[in-house]
Amino acid sequence: MSGARRGAALALAALMLSLSACSSAPKKEEETLFAMDTVMSLTLYGDNARDALAQATDTLEQLDELWSPTQEDSQIWAVNHSGGSWTTVDGETSVLLQQSLELCQITDGALDITAYPAVEAWGFPSGDYRVPAQAELDQLASRIDYSQVELAGNRVRLPASMSLDLGAVAKGWAGELLSQQLSEAGIKSALLDLGQSTIQTVGTKPDGSPWRIGIQDPAGESYLGILELTGQAMGTSGDYQRYFEQDGVRYCHIIDPATAAPARSGVRSVTVVSSSALNCDALSTALFVMGTEKGVAFWREHPELDFQALWIGEDGTITLTKGLQSSFSLAQGYEDREVQVVS
Ligand code: ADP
Ligand code: MG
Repeated sequence: MSGARRGAALALAALMLSLSACSSAPKKEEETLFAMDTVMSLTLYGDNARDALAQATDTLEQLDELWSPTQEDSQIWAVNHSGGSWTTVDGETSVLLQQSLELCQITDGALDITAYPAVEAWGFPSGDYRVPAQAELDQLASRIDYSQVELAGNRVRLPASMSLDLGAVAKGWAGELLSQQLSEAGIKSALLDLGQSTIQTVGTKPDGSPWRIGIQDPAGESYLGILELTGQAMGTSGDYQRYFEQDGVRYCHIIDPATAAPARSGVRSVTVVSSSALNCDALSTALFVMGTEKGVAFWREHPELDFQALWIGEDGTITLTKGLQSSFSLAQGYEDREVQVVS
C-alpha cells in the first residue's frame, strides 16, 4: 500500500471509529412531572428511551389517580368514604394494600397506613397547620390501627372512623413497578427520582459507573454524603421534607402512630437502600418513627427484608449499616463528620 493510500485508509478507519462512537452514545430522555403530591424527574438512556419514558409517565399519572387520599375519584377516597362498608378496589391496589399491611405488622405498627386522621388533624394535606390538644391526640391515636383493615381478595373494609393513606409507600411501589417496566422495555440505564428522596435506579450510568446520589444534610442546604447505587432503590424520610414550626418546635409530616403526633425519636433522617423500592419507602418511614437504637435492632432482626440503612441523628452523628460502608462517602466539607458503622 502506498503512503497516500495508507493515509486514506487510516483516515477512513478513524472516521468509522468516530461514527460508531457517535452511534453508540445512548439516547437520553428526561421528564419532570408532578404526581403523588411531589415533583418527580425521570432520566432514561437507550434507543427506546422516548417510548419508555412516555409509558413511565402514564403509569405514574394512573397510580396517582388511583391512590390519592384527596382526589374524590381515587380508590383510597372511595374506601375512606364508604362509611365502614366493603369497597371493591382493583388488583394493583389490593396487592399494595396486602404488602403494606405486612410491613405494618413487621414494623410493629411504626408504619401504619391508617395514620391519615392524624395527618389531617395536623393540617398536612391542606397546609392549614395546627397543634391538636392532648385529648384530641388521644382520640386520634385510637383511630389508627392497621390491624382493623380487612382485605378479602379485591375488597377492603375498615371502620367508618378510620382512613387509609398510602403516602408512605406509593412512591416506593411506583419505583418498583417502573423499574420492571423499563427493564422489559430494554432500558439498561435510568435514574428515577420519584420525589421526596425516593430514588429508583436501573442498571448503571451509561458509562458503566454507579449512580451517585446525594444525601441531604438535614441541618443545612447541602449534601453531606454520597451513596453509590447500581440498580437499587433508595428512600429517605426526614423531618426537613415537610414540616411546620410553632413556638420554636418543629412538627414533621411523619406521625408516630402510638401518639398521633409527629415522630420525635432523635433522628433527623433515615435513608434505606434495598433492591425493593417499596421496602425503602415503607422502612424509611418506620425507622424514622423508631429512632436509631430501635432501628438498628430492627435491621439486625430482619435480614430477610434485605435492606441497609443510614441514620442522621439530631446531633449530626451518622450511623450506617455495614453493607453501605463501601458505597457511602462523605461530601466535601463534611470529612470530619463522625460515622458509626453497625454490624
Ligand atoms: P415522603 O412522602 O416525604 O417521602 P414518607 O415516605 O416518610 O415521606 O411518608 C410520609 C407520608 O406518609 C405522610 O405524608 C403521611 O401521608 C403518611 N404517614 C405519616 N406517618 C406515617 C406512618 N407512621 N405510617 C404510615 N404512613 C405515614
Ligand atoms: Mg416512606
